[in-house]
Amino acid sequence: MVLLLLACTSAPDSGAAGRDGRLDTSGVDSMFETGRDTSRDSGLDTSRDSGTDTGGPAGPLAEADVVVIGAGGSGLAAGVAAIQAGASVIILEREANHGGASVHAGNLFACGTRWQADGGVTDSAELCLSEWDGFTGGDATASVVQAFVDESAATLEWLAAFGGDFTLATSVAPETGTVPRIHQPTAGLELPVNLLGVYARDHIRLGTTATGLVREDGRVIGVEVGPGSDGSGDTGWISAGAVVVATGGFGRNDVRVAENVPGIENFPTFYEATPGMDGNGLDLVEAVGGALANMDDVGLYAHAAADAQIGAPEVMVISNLDRTLVVDATGRRVADEREFMTSIMGSRYVDEGPFYAIFDDTGWGLLNLSGRGFNYPDGVNMNIDGPTYESLVPVPVGDTAADLATAAGFDGATFEAALDLYNEAAASGVDTEFGKPEDYLQRIRTGPLRALGIVLGRSKSFGGAALDDEGRVIDELGNTIPGLYAAG
Ligand SMILES: Cc1cc2nc3c(=O)[nH]c(=O)nc-3n(C[C@H](O)[C@H](O)[C@H](O)COP(=O)(O)OP(=O)(O)OC[C@H]3O[C@@H](n4cnc5c(N)ncnc54)[C@H](O)[C@@H]3O)c2cc1C
Repeated sequence: MVLLLLACTSAPDSGAAGRDGRLDTSGVDSMFETGRDTSRDSGLDTSRDSGTDTGGPAGPLAEADVVVIGAGGSGLAAGVAAIQAGASVIILEREANHGGASVHAGNLFACGTRWQADGGVTDSAELCLSEWDGFTGGDATASVVQAFVDESAATLEWLAAFGGDFTLATSVAPETGTVPRIHQPTAGLELPVNLLGVYARDHIRLGTTATGLVREDGRVIGVEVGPGSDGSGDTGWISAGAVVVATGGFGRNDVRVAENVPGIENFPTFYEATPGMDGNGLDLVEAVGGALANMDDVGLYAHAAADAQIGAPEVMVISNLDRTLVVDATGRRVADEREFMTSIMGSRYVDEGPFYAIFDDTGWGLLNLSGRGFNYPDGVNMNIDGPTYESLVPVPVGDTAADLATAAGFDGATFEAALDLYNEAAASGVDTEFGKPEDYLQRIRTGPLRALGIVLGRSKSFGGAALDDEGRVIDELGNTIPGLYAAG
């Protein structure tokens, strides 16, 4: 998967903007423009308006110019930028460690970097924006997209300054346009999110859950807190000059996903999101009148099978899916199988799924099924092969194409035609149906044949608080909610 850097804003109507991150330091800077009104910090008063009852008047547990909720990549980036700008900062994290889903993000997208130049790649923000629509489907004229792309090279330099370095991934992934734009932390060096976590260590309050936002006269002036996931942490509130909600995605929030992806309820639930992606920050924002944007932009993946080890709703990613034949429930081939490696086929799954990956005996033996491991207890293998998978979960099998069609419920003639055509393409090296390159066309010939069910994984979510260009949360009318920002 190919996504972007750290802090991310989602402006209303910004097309792909919600999926693209940028570090909006202008927003952070503007938090300090008004200065901090310490008179707000004298304790609760009855005009304060909060999502939950804090249990009566009490002084804040702590106070800071900026309180960030969430110590993932975006929260840490916002917090560190605020620290560098001279603010006092507290970063709340409900887990026992910082990092969130961001510890899984190793591909950083940027345009016009020195790492590209060193690799002989000519790129610029202008070129990137001119191609943007083609590889994201988003709106390159959106100000948040333009700012992200314009600042992406500088943001990578900013991250590298914490002690990391990057290596340009030179294969051109289909999602990055005409030149390589994916930068990976150099082998042996830490992920940027870990470097930011070390830098901000003394500012992070682990084991502390934000349970509500505190308002006074319409302005957000603090955060209600309670114990973290491990039951530790104090209950009370923390006074803030500005609050940044950076609580991550909502891929594991079934209600939010169902509301925004019509038809998904027709398929069993599987997740490729980390356990913390519950969307609770959306509730915090809505409770103080904030609007949401881009909520229907949910990243779905169709490249995995049901987990065989700890079971649904987790997944195991199928290796070499792009090198085999994939069919729908009728047995019809549906796409250049490389598209199953992107979210394209995840989106199509809702209307056209379920899909099945076809393997001959050789391919089945070589198969690797890789668990995401988000919820794996210690000692469970991350990777298993086809035969091991089949010993745990039934897989339709047949000695011939006709037998497999019967076992899997395909239309026999449709499946046999699809398999024949695929094998002809593999033999000639020319895929007349979908144009898949020769290297990815491998014949499926040695029975028995198997049809491995592909499940629909709920992964990333690109919606969130509706923001203005400064990262300030806005309401349905476009009015800013004073003191409230969001990133992610
Ligand atoms: C397997 C996987 C691979 C990925 N690979 C890439 C990649 O290569 N490149 C890329 O750009 N993106 C990638 N992504 C996406 C990327 O990880 C996310 O876009 C990014 O992590 C979002 O960062 P965030 O700071 O918004 O959220 P998170 O990193 O999830 O951080 C949110 C934090 O907020 C905390 N939190 C939540 N609620 C509260 C609360 N109420 N109080 C206190 N704390 C709270 C959470 O515990 C968490 O630590 C990947 C995602 C996954 C799941």
